[in-house]
Amino acid sequence: MSENEVRNVVVIGGGPAGYTAALYAARALLEPLVIEGVSWGGQLMITSEVENFPGYPKGVLGPQMMSDLRAQAERFGSELLTDDVVGIDLSKRPFRVSTGEREFLAKTLIVATGARARQLGLDSELALLGKGVSSCAVCDAAFFRNQEVVVVGGGDSALEDALFLTRFASKVTLVHRREEFRAEPIMLARVRANEKIELVTNAVVEEVLGVEPGHVTGVRLRDTKSGDTSELAVTGLFVAIGHEPNTTLFLDRLDHDEAGYLVTQPRSTATNVPGVFAAGDVQDPTFRQAITAAGSGCMAALEAERFLAAEEHERVATD
Ligand code: NAP
Repeated sequence: MSENEVRNVVVIGGGPAGYTAALYAARALLEPLVIEGVSWGGQLMITSEVENFPGYPKGVLGPQMMSDLRAQAERFGSELLTDDVVGIDLSKRPFRVSTGEREFLAKTLIVATGARARQLGLDSELALLGKGVSSCAVCDAAFFRNQEVVVVGGGDSALEDALFLTRFASKVTLVHRREEFRAEPIMLARVRANEKIELVTNAVVEEVLGVEPGHVTGVRLRDTKSGDTSELAVTGLFVAIGHEPNTTLFLDRLDHDEAGYLVTQPRSTATNVPGVFAAGDVQDPTFRQAITAAGSGCMAALEAERFLAAEEHERVATD
């Protein structure tokens, strides 16, 4: 298809939502283009075993599952472009989607750009990423057998990670910047009951230690009330302070909540711009599962298909 042709559906994002949307749109013969991102696959690419996606009774490696989903979308005629979108014009139709070098026109757009793990923003954290610093306890916990680790955060993710890590680590210190926890009370009760977990509240990780040897040797904590600092010798730091949706390109045109998640209409993936649909983590701060992302990708494709059919019906009626 030439670049000047107006596509029926352009999907932005190559995660479970994007590929599922593409699969359904392709099977509806809409010949979708998926601009999947240079590092396609999304968050599952940094996960090891996925055991909760229905249909894989023995589990599946995250990257394997993503390449299966991608191949399935491609099999039915989706065109895949391994590039990043850098510009969007939703002010008029057809919509314009730019990758810098190329521009595409679209009758409908499915935004499935996902979310990413939030980081503390320390240089030492970045330097030691993958060298003891992790955003994924489920992926990396097994590397810390009989070692001491720190988890940062006070939400369900942090507490869940801390509990999970106790299966491997000899001690888990949970560091939270406030006294009150965002997490469910039942999670907090479980954490308090676990003798391998020590809670440190009103504290933040000010520095990750170990940049010189090239692996985490500890963290420097700062008490948020007294300002006192202390060092804790650990080999792992798990940052579990939430996620941020990848929505920068859309914030000026699409309705979003205060955290930047796109807002869709109830029981629908429709956004405030007719013809633009949002699926997956980009519009879901709550569930954030591969299966829910895939489900909403399916919804978005079905809604795009209906939108195009209604428009065609109207066009024929007025001709
Ligand atoms: P979250 O609820 O937004 O919690 C993020 C935590 O990180 C908060 O305690 C926050 O502190 C802290 N934080 C944020 N930025 C920080 C920073 N720069 N430095 C230090 N601490 C920082 O995120 P989440 O835990 O990922 O959960 C997201 C959603 O998924 C929630 O709705 C949660 O219930 C759900 N979830 C559910 C389950 C489950 O049911 N099994 C498991 C995981 C997640 P403050 O509290 O001070 O803001």
